[in-house]
Amino acid sequence: MKGYVADWEALQRTDPEVAEAIAGELERERTTLRLIASENYASPAVLAALGSTMTNKYAEGYPGRRYYGGCGFVDVTEQLAIDRAKQLFGADHANVQPHAGAQANLAVFGAFLQPRDPSEKVLGMVLAHGGHLTHGSPVNVSGMWFHFVGYEVDRETERLDMDRVRDLAHEHRPKIILAGYTAYPREIDFGAFRQIADEVGALLWVDASHFMGLVAGGVYPSPVPYADVVTFTTHKTLRGPRGAMILCREEHAQAIDKAVFPMMQGGPLEHCIAAKAVCLKEAMSEGFRAYAERTVRDARAIAAALADEGLRIVSGGTDSHLLLADVRPLGLDGKRSEAVLDEVGIALNKNQIPYDPNPPSTPSGIRIGTPAVATLGMDEPEMREVASIVGEVLRSPDDAGVKDKARARVRDLMQRYPVYP
Ligand SMILES: *Cc1c(COP(=O)(O)O)cnc(C)c1O
Repeated sequence: MKGYVADWEALQRTDPEVAEAIAGELERERTTLRLIASENYASPAVLAALGSTMTNKYAEGYPGRRYYGGCGFVDVTEQLAIDRAKQLFGADHANVQPHAGAQANLAVFGAFLQPRDPSEKVLGMVLAHGGHLTHGSPVNVSGMWFHFVGYEVDRETERLDMDRVRDLAHEHRPKIILAGYTAYPREIDFGAFRQIADEVGALLWVDASHFMGLVAGGVYPSPVPYADVVTFTTHKTLRGPRGAMILCREEHAQAIDKAVFPMMQGGPLEHCIAAKAVCLKEAMSEGFRAYAERTVRDARAIAAALADEGLRIVSGGTDSHLLLADVRPLGLDGKRSEAVLDEVGIALNKNQIPYDPNPPSTPSGIRIGTPAVATLGMDEPEMREVASIVGEVLRSPDDAGVKDKARARVRDLMQRYPVYP
């Protein structure tokens, strides 16, 4: 009998079509330069936990108080995930069960708000300036059932304007103030948000999905000492399995736990939770700290080098793992840029920039993130090489010769920094 049963050959025999697509995805990851800010490479140890038989186990409830028998071992892994999350981030309470970031955010709504009650407002960043779909988009439950008011970044500095946030908070008296975004490159002053929340008697919620790995690595300010509740995905800078967690103050622990289960979810994904425990252990290591430092160093390096290539860097730079670049100075839009870079093996996404005159389908910018390349070990010289490739391709988007050369340079880079060697 085997101690671990996931079996690649069995998959190939049972379902060659799925096996082929999975192999194709691995090959794609090995040959594409990943600059998508929300993506990373989970470690083989994390992947092994994901492929474990813990996927078989029902465990509704929480460690020590389940609605099913036989939860001894999943209690071990879920408790490890909880304890490590609390230790790593200095939190009172952790819920490690949300299936994804959107679910974690829905649990926050469930814990603190009544649906369709316009007297209970959430003050968050407008989506066009970097807020997430789950921060009040009309096509998402957040915007359908809850009442959002938006703040913007300053038009000149393209940074948060805390005076504006304060004015809106006093004007609208929100029940929740939300900070944390998908496309904001700069540090967030969580202390200032806390102060404004206290002035108007609001809860402070931070959606740290993008940057929580940087917090773990000690290179980005932690929202935990300031926020009532912090939600975050585990698969972005934190480099774990696809999923999410919620940290909160003790006074909110019961409300959050009840909102995750049974309000929003049924049985937790215990194989994912085991993988979350593994990723938290990895995030406590010296190697992870070095990765987090490299991630920010890489983002700063590529921002500076892209500016030299003629792109305009939104807010003039970055303090995190991501940056927004305005590509209009090169006569392109973000959609075209994404497409031509894809042709040479560089994956990134088009993105609106603050006060973008162009529509979301053809926005003025691209978003670039360095967590994945930092995981591979790429550092400042490689970021200058990448910026030079990006610059050349974007200056001659129709030149097949330029694109051939660029493709070769990307291939060379990927060979020097192999994915899952
Ligand atoms: C990625 C992200 C989410 C959603 O995470 P999913 O796992 O895709 O549901 C929520 N909030 C922010 C700020 C994010 O960046």
